[in-house]
Amino acid sequence: MADAPPRRATADALCAEPCPICGRPAVAATRPFCSTRCANVDLNRWLTGVYAIPESESQDEDGRPPEESGKA
Ligand SMILES: [Zn+2]
Repeated sequence: MADAPPRRATADALCAEPCPICGRPAVAATRPFCSTRCANVDLNRWLTGVYAIPESESQDEDGRPPEESGKA
């Protein structure tokens, strides 16, 4: 029986891209983030950006879409 040398699992972590939120090495379980917390932070940013609808959009809801207006 040959005792294989222990593989460096940490090597993967070093190769992984840093967490976009805090810059720490990302974990496979929560890639590309280092933890679920950072993942939630990013998710929050996403949701905030999506829900941040410009007020000008509300005008479209009042009438017909601009595409229909072009057609006589
Ligand atoms: Zn992080």
